[in-house]
Amino acid sequence: MNPLFANMPTSIFTRMSGLATELGAINLGQGFPDFGWPEDVVARAAEALLAESNQYAPMRGLPVLREAVADHYRRHQGLEIGSEHVTVTSGATEAIAAAISALVSPGDEVLLFQPLYDAYVPLVLRAGGVPRFIRLTPPDWRITAEALAAAFTPRIRLVILNTPHNPTSRMFADDELRLLAEYCIRNDAIALTDEVWEHVVFDGRRHVPLAALPGMAERTVKIGSAGKIFSLTGWKIGWIVAPPSLGEPIAKAHQFLTFATAPNLQTAAAFGLGKEDGYFTAMRAALAEARDFLAAGLSDAGFACLDAEGTYFMCIDLEASGVAADDATFCDRAVREAGVAALPLSEFYAEAPVNHVVRLCFAKKRETLETGIERLRAAKRLFAR
Ligand code: GLN
Repeated sequence: MNPLFANMPTSIFTRMSGLATELGAINLGQGFPDFGWPEDVVARAAEALLAESNQYAPMRGLPVLREAVADHYRRHQGLEIGSEHVTVTSGATEAIAAAISALVSPGDEVLLFQPLYDAYVPLVLRAGGVPRFIRLTPPDWRITAEALAAAFTPRIRLVILNTPHNPTSRMFADDELRLLAEYCIRNDAIALTDEVWEHVVFDGRRHVPLAALPGMAERTVKIGSAGKIFSLTGWKIGWIVAPPSLGEPIAKAHQFLTFATAPNLQTAAAFGLGKEDGYFTAMRAALAEARDFLAAGLSDAGFACLDAEGTYFMCIDLEASGVAADDATFCDRAVREAGVAALPLSEFYAEAPVNHVVRLCFAKKRETLETGIERLRAAKRLFAR
């Protein structure tokens, strides 16, 4: 057996969701909505399932979806791309795996920002890459010039950036993106940008793709996901946007991971990407309202809430909330004794974890959030000093 996987625990997302189901707890852990989805997108999939092909889609994706992804980014983000830049994958996690497999050779250094999505490091290690970390810390989670200067060397071949960022809910600011772009260009590094949360942004903020910065289009591999855009996380429809010189080798990796992706879901995702601006604005407004509701309830319960600029997530700072426990202990007792699942941030670090912050998913119905708040209030009481 490969020791990397043989010695690895099941992901915290799966473990916490499993516990929540087993114990009948409210699940504010794993990031998935419980309030439904756009009916018209699902209807388009149903129609395609009954009336269109159920055989293999083309390896790089249905032409209609590759066109729709390119059109969508031209329209929403001003990227100058065509369908030849797009490869469809079975979810963003597959896109990340394909990209890392194709871009990293043994011995290559890969720069990552902690906290991070749990798939990155094992995939880098499996490719023989050497991870280098920049550690971001609350409450600002900023990428500083000092940290970049200390971490960046010409041996770094790939930088993996996730913005808007899971689990901190930060959208990296223009000055941070500019600085990172400068380092990539100066050191001839490629950027892999996980932008699955690009539409889930609040308070009038606009997502800026790193590929839009001068000199970055030719060295950026951008990843997107229909699951997050349409509240359809089970569909596992993702995509890669990259210049052909990078996209072609990544497609070779994709062909031996999953080869191709369900055609009906691709057709529906293409339909969804063409929806008018009103859909995206309303989706953001509803999620921002859920965020505000959770933040107000938790503040009332005495929790210190950190800002959430985008994503489905909000963090609470246990230390600042007067909870005398680390994040893992708090989450374990919260799910077992108070009936609410949350995720400890320490699980998102490969080394030197910040261990006093907890991530909560607010992409939930009002009643789920109401019960979640009451149970978190009860969880806090378990640690009363
Ligand atoms: N992206 C989801 C989250 O952060 C989890 C996905 C998964 O469970 N693999 O909650």
